Amino acid sequence: MNSRNDCSKFNLNSLIRENILNIYPYTSARIEHKKKQESIFLDANENSFGSPLSFYNFYNRYPDPLQIQLKNKISELKNISISNIFIGNGSDEIIDIIYRIFSRPGVDHSIIFPPTYGMYEVSGRIHGINVIKIPLTMDRYQLNIEKIENSINQYSKIIFICSPNNPTGNDILEQDIENILNNFSGIVVLDEAYIDFSKKKSFSNKIDQYPNLIVLQTLSKSWGLAGIRIGIGFASKEIIEWMNKIKFPYNINILSQEVAIQALENKDLYFYHLKSILKERKYLEENFKKISFITKVYPSSTNFLLVKIHFLSKKVYQYLIKNQIFVRDRSKIILCNDCLRITVGTRYENQLLVKKMIQYSLLIKNKL
Ligand SMILES: *Cc1c(COP(=O)(O)O)cnc(C)c1O
Repeated sequence: MNSRNDCSKFNLNSLIRENILNIYPYTSARIEHKKKQESIFLDANENSFGSPLSFYNFYNRYPDPLQIQLKNKISELKNISISNIFIGNGSDEIIDIIYRIFSRPGVDHSIIFPPTYGMYEVSGRIHGINVIKIPLTMDRYQLNIEKIENSINQYSKIIFICSPNNPTGNDILEQDIENILNNFSGIVVLDEAYIDFSKKKSFSNKIDQYPNLIVLQTLSKSWGLAGIRIGIGFASKEIIEWMNKIKFPYNINILSQEVAIQALENKDLYFYHLKSILKERKYLEENFKKISFITKVYPSSTNFLLVKIHFLSKKVYQYLIKNQIFVRDRSKIILCNDCLRITVGTRYENQLLVKKMIQYSLLIKNKL
């Protein structure tokens, strides 16, 4: 037992780096005072005449630093108060901000469970944070709870759990996530980038229950908006306030805020695309099972499939590239030997992929 193996000892301020605790955030006249539509803005050195664009717009103005309109939309959609919502320039920015708030370079460490999303480690290393890796279990890609408990010490600040996990595609067991939330007095980041493709429920509505929980979601996957870079963090009001204090003041540009609001209003098309992806995932699963060199199709709660291709993964990967089809080679990643990660495409794309795979299997059959 040690100081971080007991979540009743959770104390937010004791986790925050000293330089952050003592920070005076950047402010602007507009953040401090209520503005009106008809106000005259001569405070931020913007161009009052506008941009050279030919259509009417407000792009000469700095964006809303707290993205209130967009947060209201997300709040409505997720049934979570806007004081519990943070918006980042992609989830990647939120991961970076979490490291900045909590981790002392050269002193603290984070804990991750490979094979998993690469940014938890990259971002940690950029900040000079040691990243402790405890691999998922070999058989089911689940958390190794006993090993995790034994590695936690006073320098463990952040635990990253990715569920559904990338690149393995499976959900992490709810009871294991809760076990960690209940027994760790540091910060638990639960990355739910793929939750909309899963049958499991999001933990976003449990942020009141767990003061140590930060849930990450994104508009990059199920919402089809990877290009506008909108990541979402759900957490206690206190954690969100710290995030707001240290983020770049204008981290989300006007264009992204506007486009996100428009997209979030079109739920019908969102659900239509979501249903299509699930249907196509099934199509691929069924067809992959007919391809001789694919030895395993892992169950997926995401918009991709992890497949095992015994001895031939590199060759298949290269054959597909030669045919202008790009998938992700994960064959060198721990516990993913000989695996490719394949994103679900449209029916046209999936048919072409399957066709090329069949061609390749005939090619090797003839060679044997
Ligand atoms: C794709 C992905 C994200 C999304 O990152 P953004 O910066 O929001 O585009 C986050 N986490 C995981 C595990 C992902 O696979």
